[in-house]
Amino acid sequence: MRCRHCESTLVQKVLDLGSAPPSNAYLTAKNLRAPETGYPLVIRVCHACWLVQTEDYAAAAELFDAHYAYFSSTSTSWLDHAARYCQGITARLGLNSASRVIEVASNDGYLLRNFVAAGIPCLGIEPTDSTAWWPVACANACAMRCMGAAKLLATATCTCAAPALAHAMASPSRVTIAR
Ligand SMILES: [Zn+2]
Repeated sequence: MRCRHCESTLVQKVLDLGSAPPSNAYLTAKNLRAPETGYPLVIRVCHACWLVQTEDYAAAAELFDAHYAYFSSTSTSWLDHAARYCQGITARLGLNSASRVIEVASNDGYLLRNFVAAGIPCLGIEPTDSTAWWPVACANACAMRCMGAAKLLATATCTCAAPALAHAMASPSRVTIAR
């Protein structure tokens, strides 16, 4: 198997949890006794780029249906972490109003709200209709405009989004990818 980011051969298995249904795929009362679809849940790490990744992944349509109900903002500890991350990375990279921040898998804006409050323009890209700030088509157009920024911080907070983010960025010398 190849790393989804750098395409190096993956040899290191970190964790094998057997199989599991998709996360946040809540069952209705009617479906409680019906069989569930399970997916392998094996985690590997790439020794070349250190991306931690699942061995397999399901199609977006299977994971992010109209009933998807995970909202990052419901966790106060996660909100605290996001605020600390925003302060730290803003200072470390010298981000300001001429910078741009893109987050892939931005959920309900739990992270980007901090950059907005700091006066740093940002863009969230999120596949779920139930949580997203903006539709993906609009986000793609805005992402192209963001590429002209003096500094661009691109973040992906889940391992499934990080490889797609890396491949989407056309000017790696101006892009900082934070995982
Ligand atoms: Zn890699």
